[in-house]
Amino acid sequence: PRFSGLEPLVIRPESNFINIGERCNVTGSKRFAKLIQKENYEKALEIARQQVENGAQMLDINMDEGLLNSAKAMEHFLQLIASEPEIAKVPLVLDSSKWDVIETGLRCTQGKSIVNSISLKEGENTFLQQAKLAKRYGAAIIVMAFDEKGQAETVQRRLEICSRSYHLLTQTLGFQPQDVIFDPNIFAVGTGIPQHNQYAISFLKAVQELKKRFPLCPISGGVSNISFAFRGNNTIREAMHSAFLYHAIRAGMDMGIVHAGQIGVYEEIDKQLLQLVEDVLFNRRNDATERLIEFANANKNQHKKQKNTHAAWRNLPVDERLTHALVHGIVQYIEEDTQQALEKYKNPLKVIEGPLMKGMDIVGDLFGSGKMFLPQVVKSARVMKKAVAYLIPFMEKEKKSQQAKKAGKILIATVKGDVHDIGKNIVSVVLACNNYEVIDLGVMVPANQILQKAKEENVDLIGLSGLITPSLDEMVHVAKEMERQGLKIPLLIGGATTSKLHTAIKIAPAYNAPTVHVLDASRAVGVASQLIHPKQRKNFWQQIQKEYEQLRQSHRKKHPTLIPLEEARKNRFQLQSTTITPPQTLGTTVLNYIPFEEVRQRIDWSPFFLAWGMKKKFPQILTDPKYGTEAKKLYQDANQFLNKIQSQQLLELRAIFGIFAANSIGDDIQIYTSPTQKNPLATLFMLRQQMKKRNQQKNMCLADFLLSPQQGTDYLGLFVVSAGFGLKSWVKHLENQHDDYGAILAKALADRLAEALAEWLHEKVRKTYWGYAKNENLTNEELIAEQYQGIRPAPGYPACPDHSEKNTIFQVLQATEKIGVKLTSHFALQPAASVCGLYFASKEAKYFGVGKLNQDQIQDYANRKGVPQHEVEKWLSANLAYEPTPNSKILT
Ligand code: SAH
Repeated sequence: PRFSGLEPLVIRPESNFINIGERCNVTGSKRFAKLIQKENYEKALEIARQQVENGAQMLDINMDEGLLNSAKAMEHFLQLIASEPEIAKVPLVLDSSKWDVIETGLRCTQGKSIVNSISLKEGENTFLQQAKLAKRYGAAIIVMAFDEKGQAETVQRRLEICSRSYHLLTQTLGFQPQDVIFDPNIFAVGTGIPQHNQYAISFLKAVQELKKRFPLCPISGGVSNISFAFRGNNTIREAMHSAFLYHAIRAGMDMGIVHAGQIGVYEEIDKQLLQLVEDVLFNRRNDATERLIEFANANKNQHKKQKNTHAAWRNLPVDERLTHALVHGIVQYIEEDTQQALEKYKNPLKVIEGPLMKGMDIVGDLFGSGKMFLPQVVKSARVMKKAVAYLIPFMEKEKKSQQAKKAGKILIATVKGDVHDIGKNIVSVVLACNNYEVIDLGVMVPANQILQKAKEENVDLIGLSGLITPSLDEMVHVAKEMERQGLKIPLLIGGATTSKLHTAIKIAPAYNAPTVHVLDASRAVGVASQLIHPKQRKNFWQQIQKEYEQLRQSHRKKHPTLIPLEEARKNRFQLQSTTITPPQTLGTTVLNYIPFEEVRQRIDWSPFFLAWGMKKKFPQILTDPKYGTEAKKLYQDANQFLNKIQSQQLLELRAIFGIFAANSIGDDIQIYTSPTQKNPLATLFMLRQQMKKRNQQKNMCLADFLLSPQQGTDYLGLFVVSAGFGLKSWVKHLENQHDDYGAILAKALADRLAEALAEWLHEKVRKTYWGYAKNENLTNEELIAEQYQGIRPAPGYPACPDHSEKNTIFQVLQATEKIGVKLTSHFALQPAASVCGLYFASKEAKYFGVGKLNQDQIQDYANRKGVPQHEVEKWLSANLAYEPTPNSKILT
């Protein structure tokens, strides 16, 4: 089936359940009804927009209200929708029991809408006449299981009416089966009337049978009907909807009118409640309804209580309401509360310095003492930002140049060549929460730009961030520039590959002012405050210097025993097995369809929580006594975002790979144009371990995992994947709404999806494209634990530490031309949420670290690559056994 608003919605066999938003319905939503009655169409549009944002893939519009001119209201509302692309992109479901209202709707919609609904209630003539018109307007139709005798309640009647409708539509009017949508009547259960007890079961059975008989016809229904008897008790209704949907989808229901964004996860329904609900749905006991009502009553009181306590904080004085909102990260009322605070204090600055700062202080304290976690802090920051955004126009009005007193001014940037900024953004939010003024220069910022801005703004501190190893050298470069220009501004170093040791050995010695490594975001405030206060700075820096000097000394003492390159080569690793599975697919393949749902299943969640400073394995972290509550919330938010990414296609997954004939030539890998005519296509240069080995251990090099030309033809895979397309504009949208939390979450998820895509693609390659592990069947945990045959080493990682080899991967695959992923000047992948690497198929292939290298190999390697030695050193993330660049000076 295909439908469309401004954008197409194509339902494929692998498509998930399609949510039709139900809230734009004057009979189903009091709020919507009121807005339409008051002709507050702007707010009514907001309801439509929210549903789409919450994942509704179509919108049901119903204006059937006695006191309304329904056709007029329909027309007006649809015209407004037409000028809102964010809403108009989804197909519309025109819902009315009056044909003329539907027809009015059809005249005002573009694309391919759905008529909801027609039926045989008034006989075949009317039915055919309306269907014919719908067809002329290019719409699909929902057929209700009603006929001249009334509504279908049994399985038999449902099938009978649907079959009759189907044949009339397809045979008499030439409808495509895909345009005939069955609604086999979802009726309320648990009404107390015994005949109703079978309604859910007969619906599910009918759905199963309809799917068998009419596989091309979509099946839909109004889900909220099922729980109509439990109006007023949302807990029960939501549980009932989730449970019913779970079973209905398994029976074959394709789409449904639902409260998008309020459908829970079946697994997460309270187990006791689930049992009671399913007892009712499946008519499992005579007293099922009574028991659920009993639970409902008990629950209702609790519900009310919750509501009351929820309301309670709304009755607090405005200052405390602001504090409450900040501590709990609630944005809902922040504007009205800020407005009230402004009325009270008369001065926007006083609101910021008063109640808002007080609230943020509490947040800072709670975070500092480990009672709040990063995601909560970032949510608080969002509240703060919204409040400040509300106040800014008033400040400008007053033309007060005087600024709120800040704890200090910090410039932060991700260094040139690097595009990663999740950690940096978290740090900047945390600092801002603690009343620092943060100037964030973004990513890929060259040294001169950092220094110029720092001088212009007269900042107190500079923070440098980076994730890839070449950024380490770039940081050294920035430090040297600061020294050359005679700056004295303290320098903070942070990011995944940075370390205390590297800062001590390489960066601090280059700059004659405090240079401090910051382990993670939670330490940033402590370090910053120590460095900003002139009195504390001296002591603090002396202490750090002492520590760094010790690190430098013990590092100098560690003399690894390295053997000459020639000797290491003699002790190379030899493959035991030389049988090779030739690939099913040779050459380069661009994937043009990647199922999001499958990739999503491949996410490794542990690093996600780590990015938020929560170090504990998934899924245990969800029930961890310390992190559990927050981890669950974060996980929920993440999944909601993933739903959104999926339903609104916010991120595009792209992948390219190539499998080529290849051999090892010494320590290098030669790739050929074809297995039969071995013309060289490219060479990948590899490094070999030089540490002295004991117990028969080998001096490893990745090239050893391929056959030599004498041994026969072998193969190597190359790949580039990305989940970062679309991220930039989405993040911008979130940032415009002052939603840093959302922006960081979006980026963290894009990274996760990139890794998941790498995992997913690797599996596909092993099982089909290459096909050397056709029968592999591993769980996600087993995949994360790398229990499959073969490896996918990535340049910049320990087995192949030379980042510049990514160039070869990109050139061979033409990855930039074909899927748009680029390499920066420093070999970072762009967009950042991308991964590239090599596939080795041998079961003997294992990851290892090249480790420390000696001059002889660096020279040899540089010669093989045909580049100067200093070029090699620049892109190598390995530790060199000798100092490649003479240190300017060592401060003690
Ligand atoms: N499940 C993780 C996977 C990423 S890290 C996540 O979602 O974040 C694992 C990857 O790092 C491997 O697939 C490989 O590409 C790379 N890697 C790990 N150790 C390596 C080594 N010693 N040499 C080269 N690449 C390595």
